[in-house]
Parts: sequence; structure tokens; C-alpha cells
Amino acid sequence: MTRVWIATTNPHKVREVRGILAPLGFDVRQAEGLPPVEETGATFAENARLKARAAAARLGEVALAEDSGLVVPALGGAPGVHSARYAGPGADDAANNARLVEQLERLGLHDPPAAFVCHAVLARPDGTLVAEAEGRVEGVLRWPGRGTRGFGYDPLFFHPPSGGRLAELDAAQKSAVSHRGQALRALARALRPPPGAAAPGGGPGAPGP
Ligand code: IMP
Repeated sequence: MTRVWIATTNPHKVREVRGILAPLGFDVRQAEGLPPVEETGATFAENARLKARAAAARLGEVALAEDSGLVVPALGGAPGVHSARYAGPGADDAANNARLVEQLERLGLHDPPAAFVCHAVLARPDGTLVAEAEGRVEGVLRWPGRGTRGFGYDPLFFHPPSGGRLAELDAAQKSAVSHRGQALRALARALRPPPGAAAPGGGPGAPGP
């Protein structure tokens, strides 16, 4: 198993990341007590790099971070990088979902398209990147919410190929199709390319031990 430190305070993310990476041979540990990082980036990629670099510098080890959120084209891309605090600083999932529904109802939309995006980054303590990857899942928004699994906007996100909301899928079903599953599997492939394939940029491979 390759140990990897993940920098997040979101227990749902830790559970999902572990579920995705453990079968691929990664022992995912949550890095505790890291100072909060101000997410000043304009993109998921910028924020993920900020978080991964800050954590790696602090830990003195390779660190994994991801930034993710919901993108609704009819709302000009909102909530986007502000997904976690759409209803204001410290807002919980219920408040964020309520604000989203309010905005969509105001526009009189029916089944507006939306996507979840996740950008995952593995950084070294010197700030260089081991690898990064982005994942995206497309669906439409429906309300009221349905399902009790997952977190965040999952109850509102209908995924047509699955025939239900993400919050109605179990953890394995969600990760098989989710933005986070796609990003992390791509990251794992970049670290451990299949036999015969070259590592990107002659990369250093997996962090260890
Ligand atoms: P971050 O912690 O700054 O990356 O913000 C992530 C926010 O995006 C979460 O608090 C959720 O509101 C939303 N989000 C990200 N991934 C998911 C997901 O898998 N399901 C539902 N909401 C998500």
C-alpha cells in the first residue's frame, strides 16, 4: 500500500476518496490539524493546487487535495468554486440546496443541466506537482431532493444513466460515475501507468513509502 495524506476537513470526501483509492493500493490518511487555506482561486484547479501545496509544505510529505463543486450553466456556472458556501460563510448542505432551488425556481427552469467537477492534485513539499487530474459528471437538477446518501447537492442531481439522484446511489455506484471517482482514478493511473505505458513527463511515480 502506498500511503497518501489527504488535506480536507470534509468527512464525506475522506470516505469517498478512501473508497476509490484503497482498492487501487493507496492507504489514504486524513491530515489532521492543518491550518485552513483561503480558497482564492478562480478555478477548481487553482484551489486544488493551493490546498495540496499548503498541506505538503506543512507535512513535509506528498499531499493530496481536491477541489470540487457543482456547475450550472443556466446560473452562469454558479455555484462553481463557491459550492461549499453558496448560501453564505459556514452554510450547511440544506441551506446551500435551498438557495440553489430558489435561484432555479426564480428562472422557471425545468430539468436544468448541471455538472459536478472535481480537480485532484498531488503535490510535493517543494510545491512541484506529482500529478493532477480532473473529472466531470453531467446530469440535470430536479427538486425537491431525493435520497439520503452522499452529501452536498447529491439529492438534487439526477444522473440519467443511473436513473436516479446521486443521493440514491450507494457509495460504490456513485464513485463509479462521479467526478471524484474519475479524477482520482486518472490520478492513480498517472502514478502507476499500466505496464508498457510511459509515466507522464517521466514522472517520479507514486509517493512513498
Ligand atoms: P470544496 O470543499 O471547497 O471543494 O467544496 C466542495 C463543495 O461542492 C461541497 O461542500 C458540496 O457543496 C459540493 N460538492 C462537491 N462534490 C460533491 C459531491 O460529490 N456531491 C454533492 N456535492 C458536492
